Amino acid sequence: MSDLSPRLPAWVPPGAGKAFACREMPGVAAPSPAPAVPTVVVARPAPAELAERLVAGDRSALARAITLVESNAPRHRSDAREVIEMVSNRAGQSRRIGISGVPGAGKSTFIEVFGNYLCDRGRRLAVLAVDPSSSLSGGSILGDKTRMELLSRRQECFIRPSPAGGALGGVTRKTRETILLCEAAGYDTILVETVGVGQSEITVRSMVDCFLLLMIAGAGDELQGIKKGIIEIADLIAVNKADGNNRNRVRAARAELERVTSFLNPFTTDWRPPVLAVSALEREGLKETWAEINRFFTHIAESGEQTERRKHQALEWWRGLVEQELRTRFFSDPRIASEAARLEAEILAGLKPPSIAAEEVLDLIIPNPA
Ligand code: GDP
Repeated sequence: MSDLSPRLPAWVPPGAGKAFACREMPGVAAPSPAPAVPTVVVARPAPAELAERLVAGDRSALARAITLVESNAPRHRSDAREVIEMVSNRAGQSRRIGISGVPGAGKSTFIEVFGNYLCDRGRRLAVLAVDPSSSLSGGSILGDKTRMELLSRRQECFIRPSPAGGALGGVTRKTRETILLCEAAGYDTILVETVGVGQSEITVRSMVDCFLLLMIAGAGDELQGIKKGIIEIADLIAVNKADGNNRNRVRAARAELERVTSFLNPFTTDWRPPVLAVSALEREGLKETWAEINRFFTHIAESGEQTERRKHQALEWWRGLVEQELRTRFFSDPRIASEAARLEAEILAGLKPPSIAAEEVLDLIIPNPA
């Protein structure tokens, strides 16, 4: 087994990755002791090697690390943890920006042109997606490979579609870790895209510094975000499709939204969300949008809210993970599983009140101190 340590940068703990250096791909048979014809074994990079390549800017290593993070296989999870641990001191330096809007608002068109605009100005951009549909239907509203064609060909940009399957909670855990990996790989602007159809905006809001809501005028409902409270969590609103004979309607929508935001409690202290008119199609309003984003980041840096927000988000993330993991480990414990099955049968038969049954099963692990 080779020792990778001498080639590792100083921040990688000594001996890290030794145990993983010669792992094979799953499903590939190990070579027999003395094969007449050498068996080809495709080596999976050890976590330390993956981490090293990732921070050196190797895109395929980044993609691989994300796949590891997205996997639920226990072995992958421990490898993923190693990678995250090794690179985490390189993370945290980016601008994390959420982008939401109803399907058809123009999110992918906007990200394509805005992303190109940012790359032209020297930003290194990662585009991630949180797609609630992938867990519900197996389908995907976001992350279609044909989207953002120009952007996906740029070296300064890394696009990662949403992970398929899994509950939104699972996707969230992975997206947060994916953000860290992208930051460690040197991406200084992270766009997290989600669809304005429910809980996913709240989820994305809890992992970004700045939240941009993309809206459209004249859909008979300037209140697209108001009903669901999405406007309340936005730091910036951009009304898209301000082109052709739609310009007047965008102007009216903008005025209405400005009125609405003037009486809402801002999500970010002392920041009234600006309402912009943009046209992704005509590439208009990009400069203004970037200027407002810059102004926003200056504001939260000066007020200290950025630091506080990230600390709060980290705590929230940690609590969520502990709760999620507790639940998973609790119910997968064989003793709990058999006891739970017995108690469920008793509840169904009306023999035991659920509250008593809950106490009984919990007492097996953590007795109530009272
Ligand atoms: P998404 O579902 O939010 O990602 O929306 P898309 O980016 O797929 O856009 C939906 C439709 O709106 C597509 O037909 C786009 O060509 C169109 N579209 C997007 N941006 C603009 C724009 O600025 N102006 C006009 N007129 N159409 C746009």
